[in-house]
Amino acid sequence: MFRAILLEKNENGTQARVAEVDESQLPEGDVTVRVAYSTLNYKDALAITGKGPVVRSWPMVPGIDFSGVVEASAHPDYKPGDRVVLNGWGVGEGHWGGLADKARVKGDWLVPLQAPFTARDAMAIGTAGYTAMLCVMALERYGITPDQGDILVTGAAGGVGSVAVALLAKLGYRVVAMTGRPEEASYLQDLGAAEVIPRGDYSEPGRPLAKERWAGAVDVAGGQVLANVCASLKYRGAVAACGLAGGMSLPATVAPFILRGVALLGVDSVMCPRAERLEAWRRLAQDLDPGKLAGLTEEIAFGDVIDTAGKLIAGSQRGRVVVPIAPKLA
Ligand code: NDP
Repeated sequence: MFRAILLEKNENGTQARVAEVDESQLPEGDVTVRVAYSTLNYKDALAITGKGPVVRSWPMVPGIDFSGVVEASAHPDYKPGDRVVLNGWGVGEGHWGGLADKARVKGDWLVPLQAPFTARDAMAIGTAGYTAMLCVMALERYGITPDQGDILVTGAAGGVGSVAVALLAKLGYRVVAMTGRPEEASYLQDLGAAEVIPRGDYSEPGRPLAKERWAGAVDVAGGQVLANVCASLKYRGAVAACGLAGGMSLPATVAPFILRGVALLGVDSVMCPRAERLEAWRRLAQDLDPGKLAGLTEEIAFGDVIDTAGKLIAGSQRGRVVVPIAPKLA
């Protein structure tokens, strides 16, 4: 038997509980991992609270991320004792995930734990942090450089946003952090934000073209916020869009695209090819200040995961959340 957060569905919706599960119920896969740490991302919180259609088969163990130690492997790249990390690939959505003592997955989904990170660091970063890096890499690939002007980060006090602020500041960009929580201004300045602005105006319908303000942006909000970000990008600016914390819609016009040549760069972490994942982790090792990572991370007990998922969806949880499961393994 092993311990897991178990999600079941009944006529009242999603039911989440801590359960003892028989090992014979683990899904198919060629590598079994003893989980050392997991984490809570927005998508995990949607799955646990049932607030979004994330789970594709029932019952489900949530957790789109884990780090741990290989217990058994039939995969040529992994042997017992190897330290590994998993992000995405539909784990915690359609395949049992990391909020459990054990996980069984396809070895092709794993990446080796990247030096100098510990298993805990890897989960402090998690999908949110690795996605923030993918967003930065998308802006760089498009040619956005620090000398072109300010970079806006929306949802800045959340997981993706916090890591994006820290990364961009370290890389020499002037970062403007947008938040719905003005009380987090000093936290965001400590991460490297040069300026903190309220979400306020960007949540309301705006003009098709607003004053040119941002050389680039990382957007986790979607919806009206993303529409207003597009309208306020400078000529040939770009926004890396990865989230929907403010909504799934995009109530925008084509004006910024056809009159200012701005670019909307979509970022997906779940099915991101292996080479780009490895590059993102290499870049995180190079460009994420360990002190900043410590400052944006909170540790919670396994038994508090379900309550904390509610706080994340309510937008009252700051930064990244780490869940120690068997920390002595790491
Ligand atoms: P968090 O919950 O940690 O952060 C989300 C933040 O968004 C909040 O902290 C808040 O920041 C802001 N926010 C909340 N409500 C609204 C709103 N109504 N309008 C605008 N902003 C809002 O989540 P994560 O950082 O883990 O994820 C952020 C988003 O990115 C999610 O939508 C998630 O699904 C997506 N994502 C996508 C990935 C991909 O592969 N494309 C991978 C990882 C995440 P503040 O209070 O500072 O405004």
